[in-house]
Amino acid sequence: MGKPDVSHLPYESSFVPEILTQEHKIKFACHPGVSCFNACCKQADVMLAPYDVIRLKQHLKLTSEQFLKDYTVPWEMDSDGIIGVKLKTNEDKHCLLMTEKGCSVYDDRPAACRYYPFGLMGVKHTEAKTDEQNYFRIEEEHCKGHEERNFLPETKEISLGEYRKTQGVEEYDKYNLDWIRLMLKKKSAGPSVGTPSVESLQVLFMATYDLDRFKRFISSPNFQAVYDLDAKIFDEIQKDDVALLEFGYRFLRQVLFGEITIDTKQDAVNKRSEERKGFWKARHNAEMEYANLNDPRYDPAVMGDEVMRDDMLKAQEEAETASKKDQEK
Ligand code: SF4
Ligand code: SF4
Repeated sequence: MGKPDVSHLPYESSFVPEILTQEHKIKFACHPGVSCFNACCKQADVMLAPYDVIRLKQHLKLTSEQFLKDYTVPWEMDSDGIIGVKLKTNEDKHCLLMTEKGCSVYDDRPAACRYYPFGLMGVKHTEAKTDEQNYFRIEEEHCKGHEERNFLPETKEISLGEYRKTQGVEEYDKYNLDWIRLMLKKKSAGPSVGTPSVESLQVLFMATYDLDRFKRFISSPNFQAVYDLDAKIFDEIQKDDVALLEFGYRFLRQVLFGEITIDTKQDAVNKRSEERKGFWKARHNAEMEYANLNDPRYDPAVMGDEVMRDDMLKAQEEAETASKKDQEK
């Protein structure tokens, strides 16, 4: 077998450039008695996926807006400017959720914390039709869980697949997988799809991370006027954040890639897009100017629902045009 292609792994980091599968054997112990207890949480660099945000905001009894504001910082996930979030730390780089006794949200800790010192990596090779999930190892000086002195009598060699089960990470991967796929698709989209507009980045952020805002948006007369949403689905997403997230993935496939996943009230789309031509741009620019210190892709306060609807329509129109161009080729 040739050398694995690891060009998609971050460089200048503690990521070991070796692709692992679930069969990979490991011997690792992490418990309150380890010599490095809490060391990882004192140098936390934790990226959050959408399902992490659901679990954490529910645990902390916060809205998504409040959780994002109090506990996260934005970061640019790729060269197209797609915005993700990381857990906020204090000035000593300690995770805000850490206590002397350990993680204060242990039962709902993010997937990255569950995986550590391993990680999940979604990969889609250029010619491949489907993506694949692999794993990697993180080697950091402070983590001593591989050292024999920290093993417990019951510590034994297990597969990475078994380790995932002990850490309860399967449920996280299940609900984050469509998000990883959206990111991979966005990354591998043809040149006709091009660099995402600020509008589509805003929609992407809202429908994955800022779910309470997304829920309000779905309930707004503006959304209802454009989309023909089944009443049963509407009720479900009002009550269940996971159903809302899954609907968000569907919505994004439509808005970003022009796939028809939700019926639209086409007449309303045409009428509103005609009415608003020219106006949305001026209003959007005014909003951006007003919020000049905030990153418009991240700050939920930047836009009203009406502007978001117009941005969403524009993003969808662009995606549909791009998709038609691709089909015509
Ligand atoms: S969420 Fe918990 S486990 Fe993760 S870095 Fe913070 S304190 Fe540590
Ligand atoms: S063994 Fe590694 S993961 Fe566990 S507390 Fe120590 S540094 Fe953190």
